[in-house]
Amino acid sequence: MMTKLKNTFSWSFSAAADFDECRRRRYWSKYGMWGGWERGADEMTKAAYRLNKMTNRWGLMGVATEETIMRVLRQHQAGNPITADEAYEAVARPFLIRCWKESRAKAWQKNPKQFCCLQGHYYGTMEDEKSAIGAIRKQVLHCTANFIDNVLPRIEQIPFEQEMRIQTPDMGGDPENITWNGVKMYVIPDYAYRRGNQMHIHDWKAGKIKKAHREQLAGYALWAEVKYHVPIENIFLYVEYLNEGQVLPFQLTKEEFDGQKARIEASVAEMSEYLADFDRKKNEPLPKEEWELAADPNSCKYCKFYELCKGEL
Ligand code: SF4
Repeated sequence: MMTKLKNTFSWSFSAAADFDECRRRRYWSKYGMWGGWERGADEMTKAAYRLNKMTNRWGLMGVATEETIMRVLRQHQAGNPITADEAYEAVARPFLIRCWKESRAKAWQKNPKQFCCLQGHYYGTMEDEKSAIGAIRKQVLHCTANFIDNVLPRIEQIPFEQEMRIQTPDMGGDPENITWNGVKMYVIPDYAYRRGNQMHIHDWKAGKIKKAHREQLAGYALWAEVKYHVPIENIFLYVEYLNEGQVLPFQLTKEEFDGQKARIEASVAEMSEYLADFDRKKNEPLPKEEWELAADPNSCKYCKFYELCKGEL
């Protein structure tokens, strides 16, 4: 007999960002979609599940960049360095072609988990496919070239054995997480390694520079503290802005770290207010209507759940 999966309360930086921007968006992506993979699920649940799996061209570009630079790093470690163009051809190009084909052929109708669905195709907002693909290609190549020039020289000496093993969503199973104050938290650093008693954590950013990234990396510092018991003075954080060719290296003081932890706690408490009896163990959401629609209508313009909300907007 199959055991029924339990929807466990969880926090992550992106969940908190969604929740802040639009309560309803968090509802759809955590509760409204739950069970939508089952054949007998109702149409709304199935749609929420399908839309939750949808990506857009920026998401695709981010994944293509991450996979391409990791190939560059692995080839380099194996003593077989490759250029940005070679890495693009080997990794990003086939990945992008596959996603584009699946999305256009609507393969996701059969299996939304397995096949790519692009928001631009789904909502008919992609006007010029050729220029969209061209822009992704240009940015992935540019980011990869910057990675080779600016990042690789700083990390190429790190032996593979010193790298932390990080469970990413594409590996299947539950992605990297910790339990902090009794709350499950998904924290998935891009790249981390030990050097003596220090922990160094890098995050690849193919997109724009944002202030919030500092907060996101504070979550990774928490991961290092909870999972590997590294004190904050030994945690070194780096936001690698690959498109700009810039790095933001920083450490958190104890006071700043405490401040970030307090912000996370406040976010968890706010999310709990949308649960029946504030009970995170049961994790039963209040009815959908209690999860407010976005305050700013601009949030809806590019939201993947638009189809489900449009009747109420
Ligand atoms: S369409 Fe608007 S209201 Fe609905 S989830 Fe998206 S942002 Fe929120």
